[in-house]
Amino acid sequence: MTQVRTRIAPSPTGYLHLGTARTALYSWAYARHHGGQFVLRIEDTDVARSTQDSVEQILQSMHWLGLDYDEGPIYQMQRLDRYQAVIDQMLAAGTAYLCYTTPEELNALREAQKARGEKTGYDGRWRPAPGKVLPPVPEGVKPVVRFANPLDGEVTWDDLVKGPITVGNKEIDDLIIQRADGVPTYNFAVVVDDWDMAITHVFRGDEHINNTPWQINIYKALGATLPAFGHLPVILGDDGAKLSKRRGAVAVSNYEELGYLPEAMLNYLARLGWSHGDEELFSIEQMVSWFDGTHLNKSPAQWDAAKLSWVNAHYVKTADDTRLAALVAQHLRTRGLSVADDALVAHCALFKDRCSTTVELADWLSMYVADVAPPAEELTPLLTDAVKAAVASLAKRLETASWDKAGVAAALKETLGEHGLKMPLLAIPVRLLVCGRAQTPSVDAVLALFERDVVLQRLLKTA
Ligand code: GLU
Repeated sequence: MTQVRTRIAPSPTGYLHLGTARTALYSWAYARHHGGQFVLRIEDTDVARSTQDSVEQILQSMHWLGLDYDEGPIYQMQRLDRYQAVIDQMLAAGTAYLCYTTPEELNALREAQKARGEKTGYDGRWRPAPGKVLPPVPEGVKPVVRFANPLDGEVTWDDLVKGPITVGNKEIDDLIIQRADGVPTYNFAVVVDDWDMAITHVFRGDEHINNTPWQINIYKALGATLPAFGHLPVILGDDGAKLSKRRGAVAVSNYEELGYLPEAMLNYLARLGWSHGDEELFSIEQMVSWFDGTHLNKSPAQWDAAKLSWVNAHYVKTADDTRLAALVAQHLRTRGLSVADDALVAHCALFKDRCSTTVELADWLSMYVADVAPPAEELTPLLTDAVKAAVASLAKRLETASWDKAGVAAALKETLGEHGLKMPLLAIPVRLLVCGRAQTPSVDAVLALFERDVVLQRLLKTA
């Protein structure tokens, strides 16, 4: 059996979009499922819009997600000689031809077609045919190369996602495969690349369905083996419109900054367009073992921020505390707080159950490394003289208490007994003073994770 080979072919004109990340995940998982290979290709022929910065962002996001590739990154702009060789072959074979139509002529053609109520498209004026006299070659016009698309018949493929699709050749025109500046166009370069790289399965967004008939015809003209195609439906935003930057974060890197874990992103993206029974939470290894190209949804998936948050919360809860601590430290450092990677390990263990992102965890844990500002409108009414006295004697006890949860608990209990107070009357102001907020996990556990001196200082601020 042929080795399964898949690829992801992002254009480096921005960050790695969630939709591309999902396509990458499916392509990667499909290759891994079959013990095949996964290739990363950078489609940088749009020279004006491609940037090295974007290439780096894409590679970084792939790395973060753990989508490793067996070959690449392969850059299309480094393969121009190869494209030229194929173009020359096609020109010689008559499956491609030079076209000198100027942009003005094309405009006029389009306008005339519109005026007649016809479908717009190239009319084949430079396409050679037996007995046909071509127009005289105009001076100073650099030609483009067009593909001589078959004039009759139809193109059919059995899409892995959408099922059988048929398009009549009459509906498509002779597309430009090489621009006047010598750079190939997407539809041509993608075919040469997928052919040269022996790609067996092409997964991509369904905005490319309209391109596929051309590509299939080019494969046939080259005598190349066709891959299977699977066109994934778009991802819609929460509001039902296409997921876009204007409506929220769409770059994988944004989610890293927002405190999502890569395994949660993979799990969530996997389910966004594919299912395995009613499994919602699964590891990447499970996904690989299940992902055989079936059960892909035909209709668009809807981005569900609340579900992603739920999935992420699951992974935060089950993540290793040392790993979480390093991530939290990183977030805190971006806020200008200096924290060692392993300073907050026990803290993560205590707080992770209540956080859906590592950013939320950092929000909680910043009280351990930076000053807090208890909201006066909450604190002042609680700090009666009786409570102030209790806080002072708690501070006194904590000076010598054994510095752990049990020690803090004992000091609290003794203070309550001494002052005849109920727990919340003391615990809430203590939380406000030390943590800056009224609600926390159990106060003894939370306090014991501070430096003793910090707690004492913050409690004594009441005086
Ligand atoms: N560069 C194309 C894109 O980013 C790739 C399409 C394909 O996978 O063929 O949409």
